[in-house]
Amino acid sequence: MTFGAPVRRLVADDAALRAHLHAAEVPALLMTVAHLTGDPAVLARVERRNGWLFQPHGGLSEAQQEDVRGLAAAVLARHRDAGSPPVPPPGPRLLGAIAEWALGPGAAEAVPLLAEEIVPPGADPRAPGWTAEQVAPGAELEVAVIGAGMSGLLAAHRLTQAGVRCTVYEKNADVGGTWLDNRYPGCRVDVASHLYSYSFAPKHDWPDHFCTRDVLHEYFRDVAKQYGLYDRIVFGTEVLAARWDDPAARWRLHLRTPHGEVTVAANAVVSAVGQLSRPSLPDIPGRETFAGPAFHSARWDAGADLAGKRVGVIGTGSSAYQLVPEVAKVAGELVVFQRNPPWLRPTPHYHDPVPPSARWLYEHVPYYSPWHRFWLCAPGLLERGGVLEGWIVDRGHPPTERAVSAANERLRVTLTDWMSAQVADAPDLLAQVLPRYPVGAKRVMRDNGVWLRTLRQPHVRLVGDPIRRITPAGVETAAGHHDLDVLVYATGFQASRFLAPMTVTGRGGADLHATWDGDARAYLGITVPGFPNLFCLYGPNTNLSGQGGSIFAFSEYGVTYLLDAIRRLLESGRKALDVRPDVHDAYNTWVDAGNAERAWGFSSVSSWFVNEKGRTAQNWPFSAVEYWRRTHALDPAEYEFL
Ligand code: NAP
Repeated sequence: MTFGAPVRRLVADDAALRAHLHAAEVPALLMTVAHLTGDPAVLARVERRNGWLFQPHGGLSEAQQEDVRGLAAAVLARHRDAGSPPVPPPGPRLLGAIAEWALGPGAAEAVPLLAEEIVPPGADPRAPGWTAEQVAPGAELEVAVIGAGMSGLLAAHRLTQAGVRCTVYEKNADVGGTWLDNRYPGCRVDVASHLYSYSFAPKHDWPDHFCTRDVLHEYFRDVAKQYGLYDRIVFGTEVLAARWDDPAARWRLHLRTPHGEVTVAANAVVSAVGQLSRPSLPDIPGRETFAGPAFHSARWDAGADLAGKRVGVIGTGSSAYQLVPEVAKVAGELVVFQRNPPWLRPTPHYHDPVPPSARWLYEHVPYYSPWHRFWLCAPGLLERGGVLEGWIVDRGHPPTERAVSAANERLRVTLTDWMSAQVADAPDLLAQVLPRYPVGAKRVMRDNGVWLRTLRQPHVRLVGDPIRRITPAGVETAAGHHDLDVLVYATGFQASRFLAPMTVTGRGGADLHATWDGDARAYLGITVPGFPNLFCLYGPNTNLSGQGGSIFAFSEYGVTYLLDAIRRLLESGRKALDVRPDVHDAYNTWVDAGNAERAWGFSSVSSWFVNEKGRTAQNWPFSAVEYWRRTHALDPAEYEFL
């Protein structure tokens, strides 16, 4: 498909229009109507209610939904009869009124961000509004981007738009990063596809609400093709080391290429290597002794025959949640080794296809696509009223390993009810699968019932007693030995080891990993003092833990900042910028204080959100709007220009 194609002319008759509208998400449809009519008064038909961002159709009654669909049908019929004239984007007052209706108090904060999202097809407000040639004619500036995954492609696209020369070094043979690596059965996204995509490349024909890995990977390929990014990528090339050359004020990158090792130079380096790219294999005694095939979920051995075999899966995180039900379909016996069970949140449509009428709406109803996207990301936008509110520690509650606040306790009750209802007749299983830590301390799984249904199958066993060792024949736990033919490690990633295994050397020969000492930090997750012109994407403290947003959005905000930094460099005529240590330190103190007051910072449960020093170096503890605001422009006073 071509991204950014204009909406099609409306020609459907009234009956067809009404039929298509049944596929609309009703609050998004009403916001679209307010926009098309320019009349926020229509929103008064429906009152915002607590928690509505989490419910299908905002929890509106069938009668309210029908009322909105009827109104939309009339408005769209008028639009059709007028010849489908172009509709301008909403002005700030209309945006403000709609945001207030959807988000409630504090909505004004989100309006500038929203103005970048509610735009006509093909518009791209986050594109740099300048080119290198305009701001610094004749200047030579070359950027090296490491990684052609989601963030690397984005950085390359924006730099190209600004006419800045860039080369992407990618160790794999294709684009996609972690979505290229992860090919385990059942692999798919757990953030809605209409949100888990670039703002400038909305896709209207996602086959599923939460698309499979293959479809998402194809999306990355399509984006790379449409925006000419393949020409900028050098595949099969791994950056082994990056060294800041003080006298030359340039980076020297040491590369392993198919033709040997070489060194290249660049003025700036963008690390787009992600947090979830290096598999973590558990340090369990005897791991190397297992006699059968044994592999990590992100290094799936497609040649391993699981049919009728005794398969063991270690881990019950997001990867296990997706692959266990698929493995159960073919394995003769399946043993799932669980340390801490995941919380499951109801998402009945998790595996459902997008109905054809929903696609029709994206393609024909002006602005329905961005308003729907806004509704999908709304739970993550503000600190209050959305997902984050449920994770915030209330010291007066007081917080415990049961719940960190009254809101968190309410979530526990809701999710416990959801899980209990699925295994009401299996109390032993329920006792095993109900977590003993606060909701949000670990990533919550989207659930349509498939997990517990799988665990109840007669050939599937959930083992909760601790693993003692791995033997040639299987896994020994405290309660006994489990004979296995195949062993799958769904044990996650070395998320704390940012930028590893690269060696990165900054000013005065400082080693980045020695500087971090296992506790990575960066200013805005992007810049590190002493490492000039090094920009990290999805760097320290930029992970969303279920705030409801999308990491695509965070990378877009980070890339806006990156481009502003490059512009500042070009305009200033200076060679480099280096974040001030005091700015970096004060920022990290603030982030740490935020994380300490979140479910994951309070709880002692093990999770990849906490590093070996016991600090949360992964998660962003605040709202998406807060990150957008802070990354919207670089403040030169916060940097030393070299
Ligand atoms: P994970 O969430 O870190 O889960 C690892 C699992 O392995 C946990 O259950 C952990 O137990 C267990 N484990 C680790 N070491 C162990 C040991 N020594 N003994 C026994 N069990 C051990 O990893 P993941 O499932 O690969 O997911 C990582 C992240 O990737 C997710 O949180 C998500 O952000 C992303 N992801 C996303 C999707 C998607 O749908 N979009 C899919 C997959 C992954 P404990 O819980 O006790 O630590």
